[in-house]
Amino acid sequence: MNQKELNTFKDLLLARKEAILKAIKNTKEEGKDYTTNEVGDSVDIASNSYEREVLFELTDNERKQLTDIDIALKNIEDKDFGICGDCGEKISSERLEAVPTATLCIGCQTKKDSK
Ligand SMILES: [Zn+2]
Repeated sequence: MNQKELNTFKDLLLARKEAILKAIKNTKEEGKDYTTNEVGDSVDIASNSYEREVLFELTDNERKQLTDIDIALKNIEDKDFGICGDCGEKISSERLEAVPTATLCIGCQTKKDSK
């Protein structure tokens, strides 16, 4: 993969990362607004614990996505991006465009998923 292609994927990954961070921020801000609008201690406690659960679930999932993006970004820096971590073959550009955080080629991924 040449530098131009690497830069394209880098931009794509950075944009994705930014979108996730923005989504997390928005969720937290909405949650804050919601709780301040509630009246009464018991309602506050209930809605807070519910939101904490939702946020926890959300951030857990988002955290994984962010980790995957950071790994892909590091691979771009190391020029290892687009190389299957299992067999060392190139990952197809179609696959990378669909899943830029992919670290396995479609063959190895299929094998891994079927295990
Ligand atoms: Zn492979």
